[in-house]
Amino acid sequence: MDIIRLLPDSVANQIAAGEVIQRPASCLKELVENSLDAGATHIQVIVRDAGRTLLQVIDNGSGMSETDARMAFERHATSKIKEAADLFRLRTMGFRGEALASICAVAHVEVLTRRQEDEIGTLLEIAGSDVVRQELAACPVGTNIKVKNLFYNVPVRRKFLKTDQTELRNLIQDFYRIVLVWPQVQFTLVHNDEILFDLPAGTEKQRIGQLFSRSLKQDYTSHFVDIKVESELVSIHGFVGKPESAGKQPQQYLFVNGRYMRHPYFHKAILTAYAGTLGADMNPSYFVYFDVDPESIDVNIHPTKTEIKFQDEQMIFQILLAAVREALGKFNVSPSLDFDVEGRPDMPVSRLGEQKYEMPRISNESHYNPFHSATQVSKDWQKLYEGLPKSQEPIAEPVEREGREQTLFTVETPTGTPTAVGNRYIVVPDKEGILLIHRVRARACVLYDIYMRQIRAEQGVREQLLFPDIWDLNAEQVPTVLSLKDDLRYLGFELEQLSPLSFSVNAVPPQLNGQNALAVLQNILAEVTATGSSVREEWQKSLALSLAYSAAGGQQTMTEGQMRELMDQLFHLNSFTRTPDGKMVLLRISEDEIARKF
Ligand code: ADP
Ligand code: MG
Repeated sequence: MDIIRLLPDSVANQIAAGEVIQRPASCLKELVENSLDAGATHIQVIVRDAGRTLLQVIDNGSGMSETDARMAFERHATSKIKEAADLFRLRTMGFRGEALASICAVAHVEVLTRRQEDEIGTLLEIAGSDVVRQELAACPVGTNIKVKNLFYNVPVRRKFLKTDQTELRNLIQDFYRIVLVWPQVQFTLVHNDEILFDLPAGTEKQRIGQLFSRSLKQDYTSHFVDIKVESELVSIHGFVGKPESAGKQPQQYLFVNGRYMRHPYFHKAILTAYAGTLGADMNPSYFVYFDVDPESIDVNIHPTKTEIKFQDEQMIFQILLAAVREALGKFNVSPSLDFDVEGRPDMPVSRLGEQKYEMPRISNESHYNPFHSATQVSKDWQKLYEGLPKSQEPIAEPVEREGREQTLFTVETPTGTPTAVGNRYIVVPDKEGILLIHRVRARACVLYDIYMRQIRAEQGVREQLLFPDIWDLNAEQVPTVLSLKDDLRYLGFELEQLSPLSFSVNAVPPQLNGQNALAVLQNILAEVTATGSSVREEWQKSLALSLAYSAAGGQQTMTEGQMRELMDQLFHLNSFTRTPDGKMVLLRISEDEIARKF
């Protein structure tokens, strides 16, 4: 008995859908790419519940005839290639004729479409691959397609979806990858009736600015230099970030012939061009667009894959490397005005992990001491050390300084060369011997001072996140977070309540250096809850201190310049021998003591 059978179309389509349409984001990508292939200049995307209940794309493209509209949902129905050779001349985004067939196998689909030359359009309703309604309908030129109840008939896949926030983040990520390479097209994206993006047509640079400058006062694109190179093999143009704008969460985008691609090898070429100009763990942002003869790349890859194979990859590597080097060379690598901190309170500043970093210049407020509450008298300094074991007491005698609180050291910023001792200490010779500095605590003091000032001035420095983190809480934490929300904002965290039990973290303090913001927030929350105080001032201190410790812990190795800078900042604080919670920051070993050891 023969046992091989052809699968019914509906089953075959569902299997294909499993590959092509993995989640709402991949569905949206296919729909928008179809609109682009249809020559649309205005594309509206309307989403509900991160695409679970509705994904709608409205375009002003070519539209479809009545027959084509019906055909479009058949497997391997495409207007884009006719023969195998066309595969190598591909200029369109789609070509397999699989997407719509796959989508309608796993969702309820409604299409309304009209061509310029037709007086009346077509309305088509499809459920699980079956046409359930087809009629003539009045509509504007273009195509309006609704995908409802995605995976309604594939419970496994529905279960597989992540939270709405995660799915929305994926949607937005794919949206970015498209709109960045189609700046000449106007896009809007609406989610649950809220306009998330409204992007007018413009240039690539303008589009980058539209997406990434949103909450910074200053134009994001001023952190970039242009690259441009034309050769027989490839034309490359785009924008690469100035070295000092590198960070831990860079925007890195490569595109070829109008589509986003991942290309680790070309990524490496770009990084190589930066050699020696970046701080440890810092990565540059870049937006680089390649144009090549379609015949020289292999696009016959899987629709969900973003890797693309080039002929002549090594040559292109060299061309790209040279182009980026030249661009960075043209631009003087010294710090530019863009990163001048003064007068730009919203700019991310003072990343301690960067090679060049700059703390906000703060005028000295001689009466303010972060180590004491306002009521404490300055003469009370000895009390700080009561009950501490003798050996931990500072060795030098305190001196009076004008306009400054008594300190326990006779200190000037040491001028000797600082050296790292392991990852934890800095040693530096000074007039009376050697000074040992506890690195993390020193930095915590500096940051604490900054954070307390921010809180008091009710003004913080924030770094916007491209993809907000979602902070899920339990019911008893929510009221605490709500009451801390303002103070957290002054510290740099911008929180927005999404649902009764979750917040999105839209911005973080720039000093976090890529540390997990949610972990830091959890930590802060635990600290504050543990203090149990209901006095706002106490909370604020506890917040500032806990954040200072979290942020201070990030960095591994420090350059000499960074050590000097840290010392400079530390010794300019009013109190710096102990952390606000009383831990020793400095240890001096006098020459006499050293002599005794010998
Ligand atoms: P592909 O894009 O690979 O050709 P699809 O399944 O995505 O396959 O689409 C099938 C066909 O339907 C396309 O080739 C195109 O002719 C037509 N089509 C799909 N979406 C649109 C649209 N928004 N505007 C005009 N035609 C469209
Ligand atoms: Mg398509």
